[in-house]
Amino acid sequence: MAATVIDGKAFAVRIREKVAGHVARLKEEHGITPGLAVVLVGEDPASQVYVRSKGKQTAEVGMKSVEHKLDVDTAEADLLALIDQLNNDPEIHGILVQLPLPKHLDEDLVINAISPAKDVDGFHISNVGLLSTGQKSMVPCTPLGCLMMLRDHHGSLSGLNAVVIGRSNIVGKPMAQLLLGDSCTVTIAHSRTKDIADVVRRADIVIAAVGRPEMVPGDWIKPGATVIDVGINRIERDGKNKLVGDVDYASVSEVAGAITPVPGGVGPMTIACLLANTVTACARANGLSEPEGLTA
Ligand code: NDP
Repeated sequence: MAATVIDGKAFAVRIREKVAGHVARLKEEHGITPGLAVVLVGEDPASQVYVRSKGKQTAEVGMKSVEHKLDVDTAEADLLALIDQLNNDPEIHGILVQLPLPKHLDEDLVINAISPAKDVDGFHISNVGLLSTGQKSMVPCTPLGCLMMLRDHHGSLSGLNAVVIGRSNIVGKPMAQLLLGDSCTVTIAHSRTKDIADVVRRADIVIAAVGRPEMVPGDWIKPGATVIDVGINRIERDGKNKLVGDVDYASVSEVAGAITPVPGGVGPMTIACLLANTVTACARANGLSEPEGLTA
């Protein structure tokens, strides 16, 4: 039987509506407008698309959207000075530096220069530590979006076997932490994993975050498993440009119980969670109670 399609696009619309409601209340009741600053260094085409999309959606929910576009050869000191200025700007509640950065910039240094309270991507070492010790933190947007879809689909995740393919700091590792937090039995697979097909076949939940087009075939999937495809890969097929995930959708959707499509799965949820994190950061910064029901 064909898998249930988990519609991330529709889910993201519901989150954005809730975010817009919270933004309106913050304005009406407290005279505060949440503000998100996005910093883009260089002209990577995919990053430009993401930044445009983030700016548009930020404005659509009624938040202040600020974009800083810097030259590809911007000096590290200048980028750090901009971050310092944003850290001290009371109208900015969230700061996002679009990754990847050009090679001459130290990504860790730059991310850790962002005030943890404004780190709406959840990549600052303080937020990483808080998440991994189960404390209140800013949760990275992509894994958060995946967790929300999983909770929505399964209800409780307790006791399920989850395999995360990929161990990056921005997706794989925080995803594993979140699943552990929900009492899954978690395995992280990566490029050195032996017999990866067998490892993945044991999973009730598979998260593919690899960056290799259609790498996961249907015969790696346990019948009925839930498959979350984080990958965004641009390929050319039949003379046309196409977006595909890290999962071979055609064969996997024949075996899985549920699957996220690409596009229309994890991608829209990521931006919706970014907006939700910004509203949360704004409420915390102003000593207000945190918006309820926005995220997982
Ligand atoms: P990275 O390149 O940082 O990490 C990729 C991971 O995949 C690494 O841990 C690597 O292992 C592992 N890997 C590579 N090849 C294999 C293989 N053959 N078998 C098993 N594991 C392998 O990527 P990201 O985590 O940043 O992104 C992953 C994907 O998710 C990309 O397609 C990216 O575009 C997409 N993405 C989508 C987002 C969204 O909003 N939907 C947001 C962020 C990313 P090792 O560590 O051993 O090298």
